[in-house]
Amino acid sequence: MKITINQKSFERIIDYHQIKKRTRLIGIQLNVAYENQQPVFIGVLNGCFMFMADLMKQVHIGCEVSFIKLASYKGSERREDVKELIGLEISLEGREVVIVEDIIDSGNSLKHTLDLVSAQKPASVAVCTLLLKPHAVQHSFDNIAYVGFEIANDFVVGYGLDYHGMGRTLPDIYREITIDR
Ligand code: 5GP
Ligand code: MG
Ligand code: MG
Repeated sequence: MKITINQKSFERIIDYHQIKKRTRLIGIQLNVAYENQQPVFIGVLNGCFMFMADLMKQVHIGCEVSFIKLASYKGSERREDVKELIGLEISLEGREVVIVEDIIDSGNSLKHTLDLVSAQKPASVAVCTLLLKPHAVQHSFDNIAYVGFEIANDFVVGYGLDYHGMGRTLPDIYREITIDR
């Protein structure tokens, strides 16, 4: 199925049925991994909102849920940088932390989140991401424990992910159609 957002064309690559199935499985893994513990799930806004909501319905252990909000921008010296718009409001010291992301692309945003979280001396930190672009990641992470789907280096929208603010409410995930493929 093809759609147009702000004059860009996208085609569907993952439908909501697949997302639900995958989310159920990740939920089972989390329930096993954190049985008898009380992890803190930290969602990175805005992109994570749909995934977080669906994932948390599959988590049947006692847990806390919180959010942070980051924005990436071109900082000085043309470096991609990340700015904190909403910071952490709870202490993570000694806690089991699970960071919930929509997508890991370059990994710059995740690196920033991990630095922020680690500074609070949690007992453990795991990362759960709906999407991962393995060929785009520019850092070596050793704690990306839960991945919904690995995708190619395409720009995607839907299920929380936007293109210029649009497309977040689509239940399925679409990739940009580029002429050279
Ligand atoms: P990073 O490059 O730091 O891993 O990704 C930073 C942020 O850029 C992600 O959290 C996400 O909000 C956005 N992003 C990365 N890749 C995509 C993509 O393919 N589609 C959309 N809509 N956003 C993306
Ligand atoms: Mg994100
Ligand atoms: Mg965005």
